[in-house]
Amino acid sequence: MTAKRSEFLPFSKPSISDADIAAVTDVLRSGWITTGRRNTEFEAAFCAYTGAKHSIALASATGGMHIMLKALGLGPGDEVLTPSMTWVSTVNLVVLAGATPVFVDVDRDTLIASPSMFSEKVTSRTKAMIPVHFAGAPADLHPLRRMASDIGIPLIEDAAHAVGTEYMGRLVGSDGTAIFSFHPIKNITTGEGGMICTDDDRLAERLRQLKFHGLGVDAFDRQTQGRAPQAEVLEPGYKYNLTDIGAALGLGQLSRLVEFNRKRSELAALYRARLAGVDEILPLREPAYTMKHAWHLFIVRVDTDKARMSRDAFMRELKERNIGTGLHFRAVHLQKYYREKMGMKPGLLPATEWNSDRICSLPLFPDMTPEDVTDAVDAIKDVLSKR
Ligand SMILES: *Cc1c(COP(=O)(O)O)cnc(C)c1O
Repeated sequence: MTAKRSEFLPFSKPSISDADIAAVTDVLRSGWITTGRRNTEFEAAFCAYTGAKHSIALASATGGMHIMLKALGLGPGDEVLTPSMTWVSTVNLVVLAGATPVFVDVDRDTLIASPSMFSEKVTSRTKAMIPVHFAGAPADLHPLRRMASDIGIPLIEDAAHAVGTEYMGRLVGSDGTAIFSFHPIKNITTGEGGMICTDDDRLAERLRQLKFHGLGVDAFDRQTQGRAPQAEVLEPGYKYNLTDIGAALGLGQLSRLVEFNRKRSELAALYRARLAGVDEILPLREPAYTMKHAWHLFIVRVDTDKARMSRDAFMRELKERNIGTGLHFRAVHLQKYYREKMGMKPGLLPATEWNSDRICSLPLFPDMTPEDVTDAVDAIKDVLSKR
């Protein structure tokens, strides 16, 4: 007999309350739906929550990385260090800027690139480092920041997984420069959206300019409910502003973030307990330094030898049993473009590649119940017992 849920359990689902729907509806009825008052409030609330000096709301984290690389002036001849175990957007943008991505391996069991893994790849051409806070656990920021400041280059944190993550007692975003994502699978959502937090005044001003056509004025005109019409182009810019529809949703989501992450953490603890005796399934290890996990994802690795099945077959079998899974991430350096254009091949980043073939994200979202975790674990055990 196959254990099968009657309803599909997705691997992620946003938690949208009636209050969220009412807040979005209010914006839709207000006569002003693009960037305006709700953006200003959302940015202020994000600063208040994280302790960041500046918060800049965006249409996506990817857009944020685009204007970040532009603001840092990265281009041909410049090397940017980042893990290959990441979402493709960062690496794509480095290439689109004309700069060279240099891939850093990760710890096999945390999927986080350590400071020494970064330092091994530093050359005289290294112009930026982009560590990734993975699955909700932070990168080891203090030594990374020291290294970046010794070399004299910026450290940009990919904080897409880290809304609510703490490192050494401080929230990610409170110091330095971090880019968050509010894509629907992330810990909070604005539909699509992102936020850059930075303590650098000049960088913040430049990013505000670049995110909206290069217009030098970011003042919200209370009469016209938008940009002052006299604003002038100071440099060619992009268009990565967040709508007020998204910002209204983000405000409601942010007010529930602590609750969301508490639920995520409880569900993750339940997974760890239920999977403890399942030898074929290897959860990630948490970093040893002081931190608070945001449990963006619950990632396991399928021990393909012990399980006598591939990760892809494992995911397929779970889907048959109405359990959804995700894959965060396939190694970027082994994707077609990077293999062919950059001459990347297997063997370059052993821990990244080992994980790329074995990782699988199990269902985890705030509205899941303990019974859902039981269903997922039962399905996993059923899959493994039938191979
Ligand atoms: C989601 C994600 C991004 C991109 O975020 P968007 O808001 O979708 O552009 C970047 N990096 C990582 C690690 C992500 O998971």
